[in-house]
Amino acid sequence: MTDTPFPDFQDPATDLVALDRSHIWHPFTQEATAPPPVPIASAEGAVLRTPDGREILDMISSWWVTLHGHAQPEIADAIAHQARTLEHVIFAGFTHAPAVEVAERLTAVLPQSINRVFFSDNGSTAVEVALKLAVQYHYNKGDTQRRRFLAFQGGYHGDTFGAMSAGRGSGFFQPFASHLFSVDMMPWPETWAGDGEVDRKEHEALAALDEYLDRHAWETVAMIMEPLVQGASGMRMVRPEFMRAVVSRLRDHNVLVIFDEVMTGFGRTGRVFAASRCGLTPDLMCLSKGLTGGALPLAVTACRDTIYQGFLDEDFAHAFAHGHSFTANPLGCAAAAASLKLLAAPDIPERLQAIEARHRQHLAPLASHPRVTHPRVTGTIAALTVASEDAGYTAAIGARLKAFFLENNVLIRPLGNVIYLMPPYCITEEQLDHAWHVIGQALDTITE
Ligand SMILES: *Cc1c(COP(=O)(O)O)cnc(C)c1O
Repeated sequence: MTDTPFPDFQDPATDLVALDRSHIWHPFTQEATAPPPVPIASAEGAVLRTPDGREILDMISSWWVTLHGHAQPEIADAIAHQARTLEHVIFAGFTHAPAVEVAERLTAVLPQSINRVFFSDNGSTAVEVALKLAVQYHYNKGDTQRRRFLAFQGGYHGDTFGAMSAGRGSGFFQPFASHLFSVDMMPWPETWAGDGEVDRKEHEALAALDEYLDRHAWETVAMIMEPLVQGASGMRMVRPEFMRAVVSRLRDHNVLVIFDEVMTGFGRTGRVFAASRCGLTPDLMCLSKGLTGGALPLAVTACRDTIYQGFLDEDFAHAFAHGHSFTANPLGCAAAAASLKLLAAPDIPERLQAIEARHRQHLAPLASHPRVTHPRVTGTIAALTVASEDAGYTAAIGARLKAFFLENNVLIRPLGNVIYLMPPYCITEEQLDHAWHVIGQALDTITE
């Protein structure tokens, strides 16, 4: 073998951006117009570091995954130890300690009657599994009349075909529209601080749901929703009482309830799950993103015992014939076990509350800023809408805001004209204050 002509990729002098640009295709990116990617060499806590030593404050938990901070030592040690012990084993017919530990730790914090977990490896697969389990649950019972799915306008559930179908109301999937299965959409009565219309909006949304269920409940498989906060479509929040009213109607009509907590899970809404914050128990729950503390890809679809029981039979045809090569990967499970242990620390509830309180302190005065509308907070997630000519994910102002934040060494990635913060829980008061200060500057500086 001859020596490869490759440069030393870790050498700060190596032009990573040029090499990246010649061969890499980035997610959710218009490569023709996007600014060059920023190389990151290392990270610690809430801070990302570039090869030339610039420090960037990560206020979005790196696409909503990082819980306890970057390069968290306990999680890193757990992964390293596991990598030297058992890196992977087929999960059909075999099991291992990290998977069992995750299942035990998770079911201890999930709503009480959710006691069964099915592993996969990302949020989209967790959603696919939930949709398929719901379909086959009815099929196994001989109920083949149920063909409809329900979801909320603006909901986002991932980028695979089933997830896109359920999330078609998010508006991201136009090229695929004719290839998606049909999912019926209900209105989502998003609300914010000082919203005088919330009762009317909720009333209308529930009336639409009632009307739908009266006609179609008998042929409906399940309703999928992001409880309390719709993430990707712009941190659109509803009240817990709305979630409770929805779930109670679905229960009355025997329609399965799927909570997609891929984003809201693991403390983001101030409690371990949005389900716990609302005092609700769905039939199925999708978890990923924060499951490993953000260190490795892993996902879980958790369900009630009744769902699981519906697959038990002498006949293999009733089994859930679904699996992924890396189902319950031991490294991912070791990271998840370590993260769940950290999440159970006694100071976590206080920490989540402190973040929420700080958000509210900063958002209150900003609410009267001439460019700010719809200030809103749920747990550790804070958001505001910037008054601008165009709205939505592709709003031009979004790119300018993003660039402004990055120039100021803060990673904030607006969803169109929506600015939001979703910090890792290790964020300090100073860091949080600084991020809000930079948001204030952006609002005063950026023009249409
Ligand atoms: C991110 C997200 C998904 C998809 O997860 P991936 O890991 O990106 O596939 C699904 N549902 C919600 C609510 C999400 O925020």
